[in-house]
Amino acid sequence: MNILVVNAGSSSLKYEVFTVEDNVYTSVAEGLVERIGESVGAITMKLNGNKDKQERTFADHKEALAAVLDHLGEHGLVDDLAVVGHRMVHGGEEYTKPTQVTEEILKDLDKLSPLAPLHNPPCITGVRAAMELRGDVPHVIVFDTAYHATLAEDAYRYAVPKEWYTNHGVRRYGFHGTSHKYVANTAVRELGLDPNNHKVITAHLGNGASITAIKDGKSIETSMGLTPLEGLVMGTRSGNIDPAIPFYIMRQTGMSAQEAEDALNRQSGLKGVCGDNDARAVEERADSGDADAKLALDLFAHRVRGYIGEYSAHLGGLDAIVFTGGIGENSATMRAAILEPLAHMGIEIDPARNDVREFNEAGTRVISTGAVKVIVVLTQEQEQIARESVELLGL
Ligand code: AMP
Repeated sequence: MNILVVNAGSSSLKYEVFTVEDNVYTSVAEGLVERIGESVGAITMKLNGNKDKQERTFADHKEALAAVLDHLGEHGLVDDLAVVGHRMVHGGEEYTKPTQVTEEILKDLDKLSPLAPLHNPPCITGVRAAMELRGDVPHVIVFDTAYHATLAEDAYRYAVPKEWYTNHGVRRYGFHGTSHKYVANTAVRELGLDPNNHKVITAHLGNGASITAIKDGKSIETSMGLTPLEGLVMGTRSGNIDPAIPFYIMRQTGMSAQEAEDALNRQSGLKGVCGDNDARAVEERADSGDADAKLALDLFAHRVRGYIGEYSAHLGGLDAIVFTGGIGENSATMRAAILEPLAHMGIEIDPARNDVREFNEAGTRVISTGAVKVIVVLTQEQEQIARESVELLGL
């Protein structure tokens, strides 16, 4: 059988197709539609090692997905389609498990949009489009927040007026759950840790970045909160700041709440400090002596390191640290910068193993020499969504 996974953003749509045989998931096609709704869009399709990119116009998500399905259909990849799995960012308190989509569920999910105004509405649009085009197969939504539903109340509540929580859902939810779950499970398996007795920290470091403490397979702490703005320094997001800063800067400059929110989401992080949000470009600049770029990377590493200390305290020890995401998987410099001062915690890495780029068949590489294992894991969010969709339906 084939599984299609769709990840719809505001003006983009990512997809991947898996064939499943004997519980082995093989990615057979993937791609991306960009600039949906703009005058010139683009569709990129990767199939059998060939990549094809065409400029075309896509009025909406339905047209984009129709083009994807046409292309996949030409190669016979959606004839045996068993399920479409969708990624949704926010599930609120209610949606903590993969959920088969119905019209009632979609209406109910609309109510969560204020919690994730940038992310949830386009995803709902994508699900509706997919259901119109392939109403003959079941559709499942997998929520980015779901893995963190195991946080205890002292971890998920903020010390703010109680009504903010009871009336408006103001609490910590956490994100990137699909990735944290996939890489944690993979690391536990590859390192031979006891699935029911382990203390692991997963660092998903990409353009968006978050870090999670996992005890015995359950997320007990994670750095993102009500929204994906909390926590680590990111490409364009500030992560943690003094909560008084937006009010101060609004009074000082006359900025509106919307403008301040935008500045913290889009003009901050690495970009705010040095003008570039792409970590690779920032590293190149730092290597050639650019002080702002170096500072941006130092801030990024400093914050991750602080969380490793904090989460070791919450876990009461540490068996393994897992790196994933574009930066976590690829940047030996960043991994070394984060971990270098942590030898006193039993965290030491082999520079040679840190520097090589090869991964084993499971998409992992152990780089530690100390008591705490350090492992790099290539994240597979789409595969995880496919697996959870299949499991839910018992296919
Ligand atoms: P993601 O959001 O997970 O796709 O990660 C994107 C981030 O990973 C961008 O900031 C990239 O610059 C960064 N990245 C990808 N490859 C490298 C690399 N070889 N070295 C440093 N950063 C990288």
